[in-house]
Amino acid sequence: MKVDTAIIGAGAAGMMSAAHAGGRVLLVDHAKAPGEKIRISGGGRCNFTNLHCDPSAFLSRNQHFAKSALARYTQWDFIALVEAHGIPWHEKTLGQLFCDTSAKDIVAMLRRMMQAAGVDLHLQSTASQFANTTDGFSFDLQGPDYTGKVSATRLVIATGGKSIPKMGATGLAYDIARRFDVPVTETRAGLVPFTFADGRFAEISGVATPARITAGGTSFDEALLFTHRGLSGPAVLQASSYWKEGEEITVNLCPEMDIFEDLRTRRQARGRKNLTTELAQHLPARLVDHLAKQMDLTGNLADWSDTGLQSLVTHLQNWHLTPGGTEGYRTAEVTLGGVDTDALSSRSMMTPAVPGLYFIGEAVDVTGWLGGYNFQWAWSSAMAAARDIAG
Ligand SMILES: Cc1cc2nc3c(=O)[nH]c(=O)nc-3n(C[C@H](O)[C@H](O)[C@H](O)COP(=O)(O)OP(=O)(O)OC[C@H]3O[C@@H](n4cnc5c(N)ncnc54)[C@H](O)[C@@H]3O)c2cc1C
Repeated sequence: MKVDTAIIGAGAAGMMSAAHAGGRVLLVDHAKAPGEKIRISGGGRCNFTNLHCDPSAFLSRNQHFAKSALARYTQWDFIALVEAHGIPWHEKTLGQLFCDTSAKDIVAMLRRMMQAAGVDLHLQSTASQFANTTDGFSFDLQGPDYTGKVSATRLVIATGGKSIPKMGATGLAYDIARRFDVPVTETRAGLVPFTFADGRFAEISGVATPARITAGGTSFDEALLFTHRGLSGPAVLQASSYWKEGEEITVNLCPEMDIFEDLRTRRQARGRKNLTTELAQHLPARLVDHLAKQMDLTGNLADWSDTGLQSLVTHLQNWHLTPGGTEGYRTAEVTLGGVDTDALSSRSMMTPAVPGLYFIGEAVDVTGWLGGYNFQWAWSSAMAAARDIAG
């Protein structure tokens, strides 16, 4: 088989680039269906972009790399596409845009676009033995639609990261990069819950509260969720991308208010009330019970001096914890690190050292925050490659 462009990986980035590359395009995936992560994303509604998408919401060894692709295909471009296809959407919170009906609308849109562009989609197919040829690349394809050699003028790698192996995630992008001497930065799980080996939060599992979580010098104010295994919730997932093994995190359970002044005022008006009863005005009662046991919080408010209250508040706002680890790739929403951006053109996503070879989407060392940023990177990086290919 001879094609102009072979794209490996029919996820968000692979489908988007296939629909726009032009010429004869072959799209290969080992899964039964394309866009499986889109389908399950955002609780089945796909948080497909973010109104506030900006390069500062992305992690990479080169903070500037994502700027070009994000500027040339923006969240507004993707919103216009979604609207042109009549997909109803809404903003949930913090600029996060979701489908009103189903994430399947996005998959169906991409499939329609690919069909219109005449993309040849091969599912349940594996590609191996990638090599350079005089006029491009070759690889072996094995699947129900075709088994044999493929030669392609251009090769686009869109196989994503290692997150959720159960859904078919593999490290193929990194293997192909190494095969062509393209460097790969260290990878680790991102947007992932923290674990504590001693199960210390099991008794308050299910309790959620607004909090500020700080890891690696970066803070996020969103919900914190206690789990049997440790800590989760949006604030924790966000912070996890900035956390490194062995480091401490800080939890501020009262980020929004001056709780010290409030407790002093309450002490004057309601001094005979239990401290824990008054704390439960600010924090979930089960969390207060848990903290009361840990910190020996007994007595009435009137029994507490200013110094005592101040040290309690300092503890609530500066709770230092050292996670034992994370839940890893098994549940991580993304993979941090990946194909080294130093080896790619930020305008086209092509590797200048291997002309015609492109890496797009999550496979690249660009990782977004929670909230639609990772899909926007998939769309933007895919369009950078597709436009370069289409000329
Ligand atoms: C549970 C969950 C929810 C998420 N929710 C959101 C959200 O709401 N908003 C958001 O912005 N981001 C979300 N993300 C992140 C987002 O899904 C990814 O960043 C995005 O899908 C990356 O797109 P991609 O095309 O690079 O890779 P993927 O979408 O992962 O696609 C890679 C494709 O390559 C295929 N593949 C892999 N290995 C091989 C191989 N060896 N041979 C052949 N094919 C292969 C896979 O089957 C897959 O189809 C979520 C992630 C998860 C896990």
